[in-house]
Amino acid sequence: MSAEVIDGRAAARALKGGVAADVARLKADGAGIGLATVVVGEEYSSAAYERRLARLASELGVPHRRRALPASAAQGEVVELVDELNADPDVSGILVLRPLPAHVDEAAVFRAIDPRKDVEAVHPENAGLLALGVPRFVPSTAAAVFHLLDTWLDAAGEDRADFYHRSLIVVVGRSNNVGKPAISLGYERQTTVESVDEWADRTTGIGRHTRWADVLIVAAGKAGLIKAEHVGENAVVIDVGINPQRGDDGRVRMVGDVDYDSVAPRVRAITPVPGGVGPVTDVWLVRNTVLAARILSGMTSDEAVRSLADPSPALAAASFQEAS
Ligand code: NAD
Repeated sequence: MSAEVIDGRAAARALKGGVAADVARLKADGAGIGLATVVVGEEYSSAAYERRLARLASELGVPHRRRALPASAAQGEVVELVDELNADPDVSGILVLRPLPAHVDEAAVFRAIDPRKDVEAVHPENAGLLALGVPRFVPSTAAAVFHLLDTWLDAAGEDRADFYHRSLIVVVGRSNNVGKPAISLGYERQTTVESVDEWADRTTGIGRHTRWADVLIVAAGKAGLIKAEHVGENAVVIDVGINPQRGDDGRVRMVGDVDYDSVAPRVRAITPVPGGVGPVTDVWLVRNTVLAARILSGMTSDEAVRSLADPSPALAAASFQEAS
């Protein structure tokens, strides 16, 4: 058996069309939009993420503003910058890139963001709404994971509700920004969700959980953590991990948390790294910025969501190819 490859780049392209139309409609309605990214210090992966977002925002017609502070910036300076962006009418979405330097209290910075501009849902109000199943913003990575799953199910001819109701989703990694939101989205779909963290890995091993998964979502940040013996034969594997790895030629390339070569031949479907969850995450962040602009212009969250293009129907079956 060889797995279907869930092509995140194709999914992102399809999603982008809807978001570009959403941005055009927003502007035609006279509403403003802008995305501000806040970087404190210099970090390889957040710098790369920010460059990608800047390119994408410009492609989709969303003004992007980069605000950077040195790694030595005091806690108060970071909060002051966030306050300034909260008050700026040209900014509808604020993204504070992680990691922040160790001396900066991440939770305090997140609490300072205006919840209506909090496009990654890191403010406790938005995290709480998500946990209650009534999200204002769905954090972009978890949203991307379930967008890929939903659209893959459609293309595979599976009934989404039936699949989720009878399935076990195992989420490896329990961070506030990826693992926990993914767990909440699983609950929202009335599926059975199991959460596995490094403590299971250190004690009983993660295989006793992951092997039973119908859907395995891996977000641990550990290259090659999931190997063939950790997966069941009919699993759908979504690899969130992005880990820089230096090859024999000295070049750095990105690899996932899943050992793709050993796992892909064994499972039903799998996302590659790169080209899986990442591209969809980026587009979803811009989509959330449109949502924020609609909310700031006076819409309720429900009205704002209804005003956007339906993200799901656009993905063609052609987005899925057989793994070689
Ligand atoms: P994090 O470090 O904040 O959290 C990692 C989680 O995994 C923690 O709960 C940790 O306890 C758990 N973990 C660590 N080692 C483990 C092990 N051996 N077994 C089981 N669980 C283990 O990281 P994060 O921000 O959640 O990101 C996770 C990965 O996803 C990283 O590689 C990151 O680069 C990547 N990421 C990708 C995207 C994307 O769009 N594709 C977006 C965000 C993060």
